[in-house]
Amino acid sequence: MKRMRLSPNVSTLQPSATIAVATLCRELRAEGRDIIDLSVGEPDFRTPDFAAQAGIAAIVQGFTHYTPVAGLPELREAIADSMSRLTGAVVDPAGIVVSNGAKQALFNACFALFGPGDEVLLPAPYWTSYPDLISLARATPVVVHTTMEQGFKVTPEMLDAARTPRTRGLILNSPGNPTGAVYAPEEVLAIVEWARRNDAVVISDEIYGRICFVQERAASVLDVTEVDDNVVVVDGASKAFAMTGWRVGFSYSTRPLASAMAAMQSHITSNISTPSQYAALAAYRDEPRVEHAVRAMVNVFRRRRAKALEMIAAHLPGAEVLPPAGAFYAFLRVDRFYDEQTRDSIALCRKLLEETGVAAVPGAAFGDDRYIRLSLAAPEADIAEAIRRMASALSTTPAGRST
Ligand code: PLP
Repeated sequence: MKRMRLSPNVSTLQPSATIAVATLCRELRAEGRDIIDLSVGEPDFRTPDFAAQAGIAAIVQGFTHYTPVAGLPELREAIADSMSRLTGAVVDPAGIVVSNGAKQALFNACFALFGPGDEVLLPAPYWTSYPDLISLARATPVVVHTTMEQGFKVTPEMLDAARTPRTRGLILNSPGNPTGAVYAPEEVLAIVEWARRNDAVVISDEIYGRICFVQERAASVLDVTEVDDNVVVVDGASKAFAMTGWRVGFSYSTRPLASAMAAMQSHITSNISTPSQYAALAAYRDEPRVEHAVRAMVNVFRRRRAKALEMIAAHLPGAEVLPPAGAFYAFLRVDRFYDEQTRDSIALCRKLLEETGVAAVPGAAFGDDRYIRLSLAAPEADIAEAIRRMASALSTTPAGRST
């Protein structure tokens, strides 16, 4: 049969490696296998009840029609107020575009800012969707590798080394998925200043900002500077408010860029789900209640993180991990366990899943094949049991790494 010809818009797209793990998980569960799924990228907590109730009330009261494309004016104001309260910055509600998750906000920003011939710097390990989001804009992702020794953070010097006359931007993600790296305020400022010097735009993905173990919250670019032609902030309700399924994210940028992104969105998705906007409105308006829920969730993540680090040190001494400063993942260096049969992170994850029922995401999906990602979005006992099982499977593997 003749194959359908796909446009270059999508012909370079790679299917997500995380989806491959999820599919295998489902198949093994269907066979009755006992699976511990540490591949999940969303909090295993309920959406705070008061926010969920506001969404339900919106449906019951008939708020089920279109809204302005960029979001309800009161939601954009509540988001702006919330960011102002947290950072002290003056935030212009007209610069906010509410989108279907942070993901669409990132897509909007990449598509509106970058195009063919442009290069976008991408610190690795990176969140798995960034390269494809850049490629969908027909721009080229240029990976800047960081190491565990550097705390998985880029510096202006590293960006300088990767820069060419085509460089138009970079994606900064703090706290980072998968590494949990958190940039200090002065490090964020140094990167923004580098972007300003080099006529590049920093897209700052702050979706894990409130999930931070080393301080109250991770520094936002708004803590150190203002939004201008070189700065776009992306954030949302998904992770901090355990609202992944509601699909509420947003960008905050200059007004002209916000207008361009809203115009684009008007032709693609229009506004996000109206009841979801009311649920998010309740959350962003009621900082004390939402803060209470965030704190409770982060405290649980903190305990799980401590347990995971303790178990890894005790049972998997061959694996290395940088204690995550934020987000809810442990990024484990495991190449010491590679051998003839298990040559890379994909093979290792497959082996772990098939032999022990533990699902993790291969580091290859994040631009570093020496690692795997374990999610802390699972009960503490499951995390402990998963690490025990991993240790038993990996202890039979000869230690082969030479470095
Ligand atoms: N940015 C990062 C770093 C993420 O890890 C994720 C989700 O995993 C997103 C953005 C997407 O968030 P949302 O569900 O709001 O689209």
